[in-house]
Amino acid sequence: MKIKAEYIWLDGTKPTPQIRSKTKILEVNGIVESLEDIPVWGFDGSSTNQAEGHSSDCVLRPIRFYKDPVRGGDHILVLNEVELPNGDIHSSNTRSDLRELVEKYGDKGFKFGIEQEYTLFKGDVPLAWAELGKEPKPQGPYYCAVGAGKIFGRHLVEKHIDACLEADLLFDGINWEVMPGQSEYQIGPGDPLKVADDLIVARYLMDRLGEDYGITVSLAAKPKEGDWNGAGAHTNFSTKAMMQSSEVFEEVLEKLKTHHEEHITVYGDGIEKRLTGKHETCPYTKFRHGVSDRGASIRVPWRVAKEGKGYLEDRRPCANIDPYVVLSRLIKTISE
Ligand code: ADP
Ligand code: MN
Ligand code: MN
Ligand code: MN
Repeated sequence: MKIKAEYIWLDGTKPTPQIRSKTKILEVNGIVESLEDIPVWGFDGSSTNQAEGHSSDCVLRPIRFYKDPVRGGDHILVLNEVELPNGDIHSSNTRSDLRELVEKYGDKGFKFGIEQEYTLFKGDVPLAWAELGKEPKPQGPYYCAVGAGKIFGRHLVEKHIDACLEADLLFDGINWEVMPGQSEYQIGPGDPLKVADDLIVARYLMDRLGEDYGITVSLAAKPKEGDWNGAGAHTNFSTKAMMQSSEVFEEVLEKLKTHHEEHITVYGDGIEKRLTGKHETCPYTKFRHGVSDRGASIRVPWRVAKEGKGYLEDRRPCANIDPYVVLSRLIKTISE
């Protein structure tokens, strides 16, 4: 039997890597059960900012596969790391760093959950503006709203939930956001590699499904100038020790404070436009933590404060982060 395998990878575009994919027809006996059933493949790196023209072969190394909820049947999505033909890791391959850190510090029992915010667009115009044909009323009624005139693009968002569940992603939930036509889904909680991988696949699925509606998905940190919220990727994290007792919290927060600037540099393009101190953010030049404080860099959820153990929320990452880089940075800061 023949199936379609959609090979997905992150390209070399700077400052924000883009998702690329291509289809390979696989001849299979029954359904694909393990990575060994999926061949290594390749692409032309000169068209993805991953190579110069004269030596442009890049290698796709399958690292995880999923049921393809868009094509259905036995078709699959295949997530890849990019390598050079000689087997070396490609410079654009940020996942390999995370893989090494997970090997080194796996015993700490890191768990992550990422809240992916995004803004729906029609062409160059935010979907809410496009659908209303004018400037929406100011922010206030849109967060977790219901009703026409307040929600824009629900059909796509519902399709996306179903697709993520069918692909068996670690998908937590969704909510509509403060800016009209802006929404969020949560991936996690789970192991670092699984959460970061699933986020890339969730992004792929949303872009792919958006094609059917002529809607594009912007991960811009500040998609609309003015009194409109930016879009983040709050990154929730815990270790085994944090889940067991509060003794480690002070130390973790102190380390995060010390490395604040290194974090800001890898927390997404346009962070200075988003972390201004307005719109539920702490300015990017400052570090502050607080219980239930949505104007902090790190929020301690109220239940964590009450029970004295649990996870912390890093509110600084922007919607357009490379999750492999951000999780690597957090693991490094907390572990070293
Ligand atoms: P918020 O109140 O900030 O909007 P959400 O409900 O949107 O919170 O997101 C909470 C996130 O916390 C989810 O992504 C979830 O996966 C994550 N999370 C839950 N438990 C843990 C844990 N033990 N370690 C790390 N992340 C966790
Ligand atoms: Mn949230
Ligand atoms: Mn949110
Ligand atoms: Mn949050």
